[in-house]
Amino acid sequence: MDSLNRDTPKTLADRKKDIQFLMKYAVPEGQAQTAEALLDRYDADIIALNLLYSFYINLPEGREDSVNGLRLLNRSQGVFLLCALTGNGMSYLYLVNREAAHIIGTLAEGIIDRDLLDFFGYADNREVLALARKPEILHEYEPHTTDPNLCPSCHAAVGEFHTLGCPVEICPWCSGQLTYCNCRFIKLDIDAMDKAAQIEKLLELLEEAGRIPFKKEHRPGYPTMEEE
Ligand SMILES: [Zn+2]
Ligand SMILES: [Zn+2]
Repeated sequence: MDSLNRDTPKTLADRKKDIQFLMKYAVPEGQAQTAEALLDRYDADIIALNLLYSFYINLPEGREDSVNGLRLLNRSQGVFLLCALTGNGMSYLYLVNREAAHIIGTLAEGIIDRDLLDFFGYADNREVLALARKPEILHEYEPHTTDPNLCPSCHAAVGEFHTLGCPVEICPWCSGQLTYCNCRFIKLDIDAMDKAAQIEKLLELLEEAGRIPFKKEHRPGYPTMEEE
């Protein structure tokens, strides 16, 4: 089953190389050093790398520019609302998860989409636009790998459910790793998961059994990391 055993298509190093290649054509002279420093700062963070890849492959204004800062506006269930600050003085909003990044528009325009506003808990676009007027109050985006409150794989926050297929999710039947134990096959009475209907059925059974939301303790290597 694809979504329960999904490998990230590329390693972080490959992703970085792709971005470096695109940057050769996208970054104006005079902005290269800052742009490269930013890439280095975030090169272990798939969320930031997805954003940078999306930025450099479809330059928002169709002309040379570079990202020199990332700000975190919001996050929910592994989806991040980030603002990319650019060398040309622009601010763009991006929706990013571990799979991909999508540009929403400029920070100055905010968020028009009602579903998106609801998803992040904004009453209306005025709340977003208030941030746009004071971009200096936005928090710098920290590489998620250093944030113990986030699942290191799917980026669910403490108390949230993992994206189905996340290897950190604990199996409610055997307390093993849900993507590696055999419970899903036993419960569905099948040998392989290859149909969307099976995934839906599994989700139903999991919810009946009680899915286990992310806790800090579930992070791989948790006790050692906490002691350090
Ligand atoms: Zn997870
Ligand atoms: Zn199990």
